[in-house]
Amino acid sequence: MKVGILAVQGDFEAHAEMLARMGVEHRYVFRPEELEGCDALILPGGESTTQLQFLQEEGLFDAITQLVQQGGAIFGTCAGAILLAREVRRPSQPSLGLLDIAVARNAYGRQIASEVKWGATKLKEEPLEMVFIRAPIIERVGPGVEVLAESEGHPVLVRCGRLLAAAFHPELAEDTTVHAEFLRMAASSDVPRDSHPHEGIPSGAFHHPAEPARRTISECIALLPEDSGARVDPDFANDVEAAIESHREPLIPPAANR
Ligand code: GLN
Repeated sequence: MKVGILAVQGDFEAHAEMLARMGVEHRYVFRPEELEGCDALILPGGESTTQLQFLQEEGLFDAITQLVQQGGAIFGTCAGAILLAREVRRPSQPSLGLLDIAVARNAYGRQIASEVKWGATKLKEEPLEMVFIRAPIIERVGPGVEVLAESEGHPVLVRCGRLLAAAFHPELAEDTTVHAEFLRMAASSDVPRDSHPHEGIPSGAFHHPAEPARRTISECIALLPEDSGARVDPDFANDVEAAIESHREPLIPPAANR
């Protein structure tokens, strides 16, 4: 399976690290040509306005829509979820409109509202670690959109067909559950998923390493080749690190927090 990661701006390196930990290959996507041969695409967190502009300039808007029409899977986290949404509110802005949800940007407030929570999910029995950073609120989900997790009465992880959107950042947590679910969605054909549940996903993908190595976002950014064409918003990187650092302690061990 080939998974593309939109690498324009934001925390795309964190998704790449997560896939690498799961033993899944990825390819950074800057231009429509790089989407060719991809079965799935991840739209990372960051600033949806910057990403949107890039998608429009590079002709990726149409290429991504085409990927979905051809049966490709897409996973949008935070800004990526905003790009996928059918309707973006407060302020309104254009989007791919592929997933029938309405989102309000920065609806929890600015950085002060960035935090890590543990919440219930349909994906596993234990609570899921959810890192929120200037997150959107999913205010409406259309018929046929399944809510996989909620927080404070709002859907925060939703799915429809091969589209998955999270208001939080699973790529910044240690837990591989959400990415594993996305890979399962991407690997499934239209026959029931259970008949070949883990096709294309290495068995090691489902392990949760006890002490996973994790680079900081700044370290990830420093690793980017200068000619990669990637643009990283330093404010976003700082926000991500601040949110992770300030909540690192109480996150471990999760069971004790219940
Ligand atoms: N607030 C950002 C936006 O509106 C999203 C933040 C994020 O991806 N963590 O685009």
